[in-house]
Amino acid sequence: MPLSRRQALAVIGSTIATVGGSGAPQAQTAADDALTQNNEAWRLGPRIVVYVARRIRTMEPDQPEATAVAVSGNRIVAVGSEADVIAALGERPHDVDRRFADKVMVPGFVEHHVHPLLGASTMVADAVIAIEDWVLPTRTWSAAADAAAYWQALRTAFAANTTAPATFMTWGYHHEFHGPMSRAALDGFSPDRPLVVWHRSCHELFLNSPALSKYGLTAATVRGHGLASEQVDFENGHFYEKGLTLVAAALLKDIFTPEKMRTGLDLFRRYLHGKGITTICEPGTQMIRPLHELYGEVLSAEDVPFRTYFIPDGRALYDQAKAAGTLDQLVPSTESYLSWGRGKVRWLPKQVKLFSDGAVFSLLMQVKDPYLDGHKGQWLALPDDYRDAVRRYWNRGYQIHTHVNGDAGLETVLGALEERLAAAPRNDHRFTIVHFAVSTEDQVQRIGRAQAMVSANPYYVTALADRFSEVGLGPERANNMVRLASVLRERPHLSLHSDMPMAAADPLMLAWAAATRTTASGRVAAPDQRISLEQALRGVTIDSAFTIRLENEIGSIRPGKIADFTILDDDPLEIEPSKVRQIGVWGVVFDGTVRPVERPPQQHGAGEAPIRFGAFDKPAPSRRPAQALSCTSVGVGSSSTAQQVCGCQSSSTQLSTACACGGVMAHALAEHYASMA
Ligand SMILES: [Zn+2]
Ligand SMILES: [Zn+2]
Ligand SMILES: [Zn+2]
Repeated sequence: MPLSRRQALAVIGSTIATVGGSGAPQAQTAADDALTQNNEAWRLGPRIVVYVARRIRTMEPDQPEATAVAVSGNRIVAVGSEADVIAALGERPHDVDRRFADKVMVPGFVEHHVHPLLGASTMVADAVIAIEDWVLPTRTWSAAADAAAYWQALRTAFAANTTAPATFMTWGYHHEFHGPMSRAALDGFSPDRPLVVWHRSCHELFLNSPALSKYGLTAATVRGHGLASEQVDFENGHFYEKGLTLVAAALLKDIFTPEKMRTGLDLFRRYLHGKGITTICEPGTQMIRPLHELYGEVLSAEDVPFRTYFIPDGRALYDQAKAAGTLDQLVPSTESYLSWGRGKVRWLPKQVKLFSDGAVFSLLMQVKDPYLDGHKGQWLALPDDYRDAVRRYWNRGYQIHTHVNGDAGLETVLGALEERLAAAPRNDHRFTIVHFAVSTEDQVQRIGRAQAMVSANPYYVTALADRFSEVGLGPERANNMVRLASVLRERPHLSLHSDMPMAAADPLMLAWAAATRTTASGRVAAPDQRISLEQALRGVTIDSAFTIRLENEIGSIRPGKIADFTILDDDPLEIEPSKVRQIGVWGVVFDGTVRPVERPPQQHGAGEAPIRFGAFDKPAPSRRPAQALSCTSVGVGSSSTAQQVCGCQSSSTQLSTACACGGVMAHALAEHYASMA
């Protein structure tokens, strides 16, 4: 029977006849490097396993579907129908594994933008009470959509907590949704037990009076520390931005014990596994040696079913080199981190993360048209410094990833890129625009002309489009946040990321958000910007791999590539887009080894609570005047060296103010980790 194009067999190995199909020759060419190795593997290596599935979505355009994949060791050696794959193996001994016979296999999910430190730290909170459900390995924390739901959830969690008199810490509060927060309110709630509320953005803390006294904080002790003192509202127990430095050390020492931090990283890792992720990357990681030794130890453990990559924070390195007068050593100093990797924890060569403007969750990005209330956005790097950093890295052949959220921020980024393209043209530069909240159609066309890459966070639309239609941006800009379809008209690749903990590191949820653009209230924001499920799935597999230059190793199911598969209960390309986030994850095949998700089989497909937002369409009043939103710690005109931004006195550490995802708190956490190691 002749093979259809969609069922074509792809194999590697010159002694195996190619049965047919347009995909095979290309696969063979692409797999040249692996060819010798795999012939060798067939003679000497492990026994070949043929996995049979209801369907395999390969994400390879020449052979999009299959029902069997043969694996030798950690490499894919043949893809096609079961009969064709087995025929192609010929005399070679093999086992047929049918445990996925009613499952759908897709390439192992690639989440190229997560933050392990903050992810771990937020997961060990005594209560996660946020604007969305958080389905953790240990339990599900339900969403709190408004002030009433927030305080009710806090009351319930507080009453059920058994660790008194220890400090109770909760993460997830957001003023735009949960209403005003104050020390008085917290005192009324908990007059005796120390209580700490950590903002959803990770940029702010609220402490009640018992917590203030436990950590030795008085109106007098928080005075006289320059900018840090300005970013404290002691009466309200509110510490934000640089003000966090006044409380972070004592607080972290008390609540993030070494035991708890390991618990957090363990939860983080189980969480990623539960979402079917087989590769993660942190762009702009904190470059602190002991922290990375801990990562190496925890994330390289034999039973961790994913591999981890890091990309250095080039802005921190730039600021440090500029302050020290050693900018000519910027690129060599960046190279030095490559040696920090070990086992399956690696640093990506010739890639760097830079920053443009402020956080979307705090409405601090730089926008061309003013915010509705007139407050100002912020730069995370001065535009002149940014351009200079781009020039230095570009000229040395680096792939540059830039955090950018506003259209004025994007203007700076595209300007720097266009300047480089004119001065020193490069092919396949993959200059990457990261997050991509507010943009214009004209800018998308410039992205196309410059052949840049977009790594988008589609969850911004889900979480923020409703609220930002009313505050800050107005409906036009809020609904069109994170343009997706426009980008795909200009560029062949578009990747999706979570920026965990800014969104759940859940690729099926990201695909759902990109394909439906459903907001918290259930409406669709800018329906023209929705993309197909296939494009969305590419965004969390092959295009995600492409973003970090690993597309020849992972991201699709093709002979020669690493055997990373995510095993799903349903076919994400043959389901209502609205249901894609609810597909059960059975487990993964990571590096050739089967790793089921740890939950009872009967729960598969039913255990994933959908994201719920409740009465999200009844927004709470903003808790403070708009001008107080400004994060002056990194404003134009101020230097942003680590020491000046965060008050850190150690020259061995650098601040990563990263987007919504960290700032001073991330830095303090990193230092704290380092001191424990
Ligand atoms: Zn980030
Ligand atoms: Zn900030
Ligand atoms: Zn960012």
